[in-house]
Amino acid sequence: MRQFIVVGLGRFGYSVAKTLANKHYDVLAIDTDEEKVQEISNIVTHAVQADATDEDALKTLGVSNFDVAVVSIGENIHANILATLILKELGVKSVVVKAKDQLHGKVLSKVGADRIVYPERDMGMRIANNLISSNVLEYIELAPNYSVVEIAADDNMYNKNLLDLQLRSRFGVNVMAIRSRDGINISPRAETEIKAGDTLIVMGDNDSLDELRKM
Ligand code: ADP
Repeated sequence: MRQFIVVGLGRFGYSVAKTLANKHYDVLAIDTDEEKVQEISNIVTHAVQADATDEDALKTLGVSNFDVAVVSIGENIHANILATLILKELGVKSVVVKAKDQLHGKVLSKVGADRIVYPERDMGMRIANNLISSNVLEYIELAPNYSVVEIAADDNMYNKNLLDLQLRSRFGVNVMAIRSRDGINISPRAETEIKAGDTLIVMGDNDSLDELRKM
């Protein structure tokens, strides 16, 4: 089982730590604010009041034994960058950091962050994509211009199979999975028939996915 550190227990960090703990992962939660530490102490394996920009404090906590650290210090960019640098230097394999904007993200990648996330930008994009097309249930960006979307099957798909629909040749997209009342089919075959209430999980470039949505 991988072991996680979560640094900064604001709304984002708290939610990351709680979700991991609920899935029975070992989580060390760190914050300078005693109240935040108290609040999460019954939920995670260890909750410690410490300053993540203090290298000796992190060393004492044995952070180098952890596989993944999530840095979610928000307001204080200086502390966010310094904590990232120290965690990398102490040998944490993977450091995931919440960034404010692209420039901040650039600095984080220079100091060794393995993954940079922009929660507000990403959530905004997902919500906007949900709003503009009522049949899009979920939207995940894979890379700039490539996404995975969940699309509710509509009546011009019912009782047709994937071969009939020809989504790959017509739109250049791939159906990765189909969710139906019976569960999820993660490797649908050409003869898999689409039924009312099904959801298609489709991967492709954004323009092609837009075309498919308008179908
Ligand atoms: P969010 O937008 O996710 O709520 P915040 O910026 O409000 O994020 O919260 C960041 C958290 O990080 C706060 O709880 C704050 O006490 C904590 N924090 C700030 N600086 C440090 C630091 N040097 N070490 C550890 N935790 C810190």
